[in-house]
Amino acid sequence: MDKNSSNIMALAPNTSNKRETVCIFGTGDFGRALGHKMIQSGYPVVFGSRSTQISSLIPKGAEVLSHTEAAQKAAIIIIAIQRQHYNFLMPLTEILHGKVLVDVSNNLKINEHPESNAEYLAQLVPGAKVVKAFNTVSAWALQSGTLDASRQVFVCGDDMEAKQMVMNIVRALGLTPLDQGSLLAAQEIENYPLRLFPMWKFPVLLSFGLASFFFFYCLIRNVIYPYVYENKDFSFFIAISIPNRICPILALILLALVYLPGVLAAIIQLYRGTKYHRFPDWLDKWMLCRKQLGLVALAFASLHVLYTLVIPIRYFVRWRTSSQIISQVLNNKTEPLDTTNAWLSDSYVALGILGFFLFVLLGITSLPSVSNNVNWREFRFVQSKLGYLTLILCTAHTLVYGGKRFLSPSSYRWYLPNAYMLSLIIPCMVLIVKFVLIFPCLDKPLTRIRQGWERNPQYSE
Ligand code: NAP
Repeated sequence: MDKNSSNIMALAPNTSNKRETVCIFGTGDFGRALGHKMIQSGYPVVFGSRSTQISSLIPKGAEVLSHTEAAQKAAIIIIAIQRQHYNFLMPLTEILHGKVLVDVSNNLKINEHPESNAEYLAQLVPGAKVVKAFNTVSAWALQSGTLDASRQVFVCGDDMEAKQMVMNIVRALGLTPLDQGSLLAAQEIENYPLRLFPMWKFPVLLSFGLASFFFFYCLIRNVIYPYVYENKDFSFFIAISIPNRICPILALILLALVYLPGVLAAIIQLYRGTKYHRFPDWLDKWMLCRKQLGLVALAFASLHVLYTLVIPIRYFVRWRTSSQIISQVLNNKTEPLDTTNAWLSDSYVALGILGFFLFVLLGITSLPSVSNNVNWREFRFVQSKLGYLTLILCTAHTLVYGGKRFLSPSSYRWYLPNAYMLSLIIPCMVLIVKFVLIFPCLDKPLTRIRQGWERNPQYSE
């Protein structure tokens, strides 16, 4: 309902044909780009500048006047000037009284100043209505028209009418305004363009840590051990064999880590008998980056598929196959078909294919363009039910890979189990606990807790 109404708002045509003049202070990169876009959208634009000379860079059709003259021509003034020069506005306080000042500025560092640039502007020009907007749009994107990735414009301000006026301009430029509330939100909006993938930090660091650990683990088991005990040089395993071990291990562990916080949250809620107590901070943060964890896991699973596809063309594999055939010929002995092994090998591949297919499906449904088109129940069905099914298939794929080798002593080199065995610990734990949580004696109270029931109500009637 909300979604539709906001779309209708965004598409609503402007009933008045004549657009109001907009003033832009500053003829720098951003001022000119915004002016260019506004003229294209039918707004008369007047620039306020220290120099009133028209240069070839100024968008065609725009006027360039002194700050005082330009301010008198418009009710909305966009301040396309760096914060450190805002002092020049103080002598203009009287002219700017009652005008809407749009702060578009950004900083070089997160929380660079004690107050946001917009709040600072409001302090310098107390009679003006300051609105924060446009800071997340780049001059280059405005000029070149490549705004696909940044159509959203965060807007905030204390004066509702002023905010509406700015939001109307945003819509007229073909962008989508997102009302962020009062001017207090400006600090957050100014920090936004400085963020470097905040949700990806934990998944990427975790994958890097796990990848390094498993790389050295496999190096010890698969390269150093044969070198020490059998004097065999398998150092070339570093190129394909070891990465093709690490990728599925990481994919499986990270996929399990997507579902582990949900299981932990359920245990905490059951233990506390309420959903109205906050989870620990680390669990909250973990839950927030589950999508990113899942996507990194999918990337590793895709790499595993690619590495697996090249196995038949590897020199080592071709050499090993031909050596086995030659040795059978020389010994005049053919190995009979072992149906158990055939079953294990085919089941292992089949589980991998199905698991990867569902994994890709999960990845696709997490794309905003897809998730925006399904309702909450459909989204939960895919991410939870299909997600667990993916985890079951991928865990089974790894278990079957182990097959008969699980208990074989040769699997333990220097008492170290095969790396894939370690990768099974977290997924198996998650699946076992999830299975236990399905039992009605736990599922029923958990469902009630999630619907608001409390074991020891805080506020009893
Ligand atoms: P810019 O190219 O350096 O232009 C700034 C303009 O400010 C100058 O062209 C100048 O205009 C004016 N100015 C400079 N010193 C001044 C002073 N002492 N007193 C009065 N005016 C002065 O900077 P910009 O890239 O256009 O950025 C302008 C603002 O937009 C900044 O706050 C920036 O954070 C924000 N912004 C920029 C982008 C972007 O992609 N560039 C994106 C989002 C937000 P006149 O010569 O005409 O006076």
